Amino acid sequence: MKKCRDTLDVWIDSGCSHAAVLDAHPQLHAPADLYLEATDQHRGWFQSSLMLSVGYRGFAPYKTVMTHGFVVDKDKKKISKSDAAKSGKPTDAAHFYNQYGADIVRLWVSSVDWQNEVPFGEDLFKQVAEPYRRLRNTLRILLGNLDGFQPVENPEYTLLDRWILERLHEVVSECRKAYDAYEFRKVFNSLNQFCTADLSAIYIDATKDRMYCDATHSRRRRASQAAMHEIFTSIAKLLAPILAYTADEAWEHASFTTGTIHEQDFPVPNPDFASGEATKQATRLFEIKYAIQTAIESRIQAKEFTRNNEADVSLTIPASDAALLEMLNNREFATEFFIIAGLTASVGESLTATARKTDLPLCPRCRKHEPILESGLCERCDAV
Ligand SMILES: [Zn+2]
Repeated sequence: MKKCRDTLDVWIDSGCSHAAVLDAHPQLHAPADLYLEATDQHRGWFQSSLMLSVGYRGFAPYKTVMTHGFVVDKDKKKISKSDAAKSGKPTDAAHFYNQYGADIVRLWVSSVDWQNEVPFGEDLFKQVAEPYRRLRNTLRILLGNLDGFQPVENPEYTLLDRWILERLHEVVSECRKAYDAYEFRKVFNSLNQFCTADLSAIYIDATKDRMYCDATHSRRRRASQAAMHEIFTSIAKLLAPILAYTADEAWEHASFTTGTIHEQDFPVPNPDFASGEATKQATRLFEIKYAIQTAIESRIQAKEFTRNNEADVSLTIPASDAALLEMLNNREFATEFFIIAGLTASVGESLTATARKTDLPLCPRCRKHEPILESGLCERCDAV
């Protein structure tokens, strides 16, 4: 560093940085895509840059200006570096990325409302470890299920597959829109919600049986793999700007990818899943599932049996749901969707469910309660 004596005025000097930077590097262009600084620069750098550029070029030096709030402590007090240093609190980002990793730091940044004051404390920061673990775990489970994946032409998707692909359609649209508007928090929430509520709690759980126990080439299993392939590639790409290392590591690990994830374009919402028809049906079925689950819980509490998949359920649905009757009485569908041993559905007054312990024996291979063949296995396992 060398002391200079040619500074005219700090605002004039910083205000012509666009000329010094953009015009000096052929890979850059004027006006700049984005100027980013804290909210106190509206009358400072943004202003002096604008005035000098209008004088010099005849137009603004930037296409977009983005301003962020200041980081404050949990009581919304400004964090002063000297106070923090005195109390032994770290003020440097390096402390956090050395200790937790850069992906966690970026995930935290993506999770806050940066346009306003950002409350910060090490315990607040540590809370992103949980969503991080969940996102990473989702990628890991999808990769496991995609082992040996071969692309399929016209996969025969079941309702669950179509539902999750419709949800993915929404998530991809939301995240692309949010990235365009620098609303990283929306990206964080959308992906976190999708991985937790839709993938982990429902889809991955309900498709476990077909993934683990169907024949490798069963149509049902291959269709789910095709869906999971679309889900994995889409969420890995959407996560890549935030979880730069984790997403790249997952991408590298997959047998069906090439190059690094950072050379990929963002996913495009698949128009085949824009209709929301499967979602409409699935949403009602989830309400029915809730009624079934409540009936099962009470029997488990009464110690009649211990696990969900031991339940034989009788269900009454109102006439308005009659269109679902055939599907509900399809054994393959119902035992998988509700993760139970059997379901008998009929149309009646209102939605009611009762559960009792199934009479069916346990298939030793898939651990489902099923009619057992001479081989000692259920029909599906016998065929595998
Ligand atoms: Zn079986």
